Amino acid sequence: MRPRFPKLRELGEAIRAIVQGPFTGKGTSLRGVSPFPGVRYKIEFDQDKCIFCGACVRVCPANARAIIDVPEMAIRRNIHYQDSCIYCGQCVRYCTTQDAIRHTPVFDLASLRSDGFANEIQGELVFCEICAGVVAPKKQLLWIAHKAGALVSANPNLYLTLYRELGILETLRPCSPSLTERQSHPGPFRSDSLRILCPDCRRRVSLRESWGE
Ligand code: SF4
Ligand code: SF4
Repeated sequence: MRPRFPKLRELGEAIRAIVQGPFTGKGTSLRGVSPFPGVRYKIEFDQDKCIFCGACVRVCPANARAIIDVPEMAIRRNIHYQDSCIYCGQCVRYCTTQDAIRHTPVFDLASLRSDGFANEIQGELVFCEICAGVVAPKKQLLWIAHKAGALVSANPNLYLTLYRELGILETLRPCSPSLTERQSHPGPFRSDSLRILCPDCRRRVSLRESWGE
């Protein structure tokens, strides 16, 4: 049988809760108590540090990540679906730059928007200068170029992207065949080796340079 009036202790706690606020916070946190170090709560991207390589998508066991190229807008989308995520931390652990994804102390994932569970960042794509296919995200090429140091000169895709980014070269097309030459012979030409190329076009240019027609 329920007591007709609240007990004095319960009444005191109710008044204290009204004055001081609830003791518990959202999720599992306690008010005023920091989460344990290493706790795996909500995940955030760092747009500046992500190179859009897609390694985090490959290691995700829950298909909670996606990399989608949109060539017509020249962008690569990197998406994290929070509602599919199991917060295992694999993507954080194996992120190529080791700094582009992190767990935050935020636990609350509630959202009133049906699309509110996805985080997305976007990066610029670089295209093949012969076939116009996607080569790689620009930030990925720049990241590798900086890692390569002096060896960057061994790879035209890397040094052309780097030099253009630095403003040293607007475009580098020495001895480019004229449009008329292109129309009579679509190539590839030897001078095409000094262009940004996809692997297929690079192979065709190299084979032609080594073996001729
Ligand atoms: S924490 Fe785990 S499940 Fe969530 S996105 Fe990263 S790898 Fe996928
Ligand atoms: S840099 Fe890290 S977060 Fe960005 S796509 Fe690569 S693995 Fe994923």
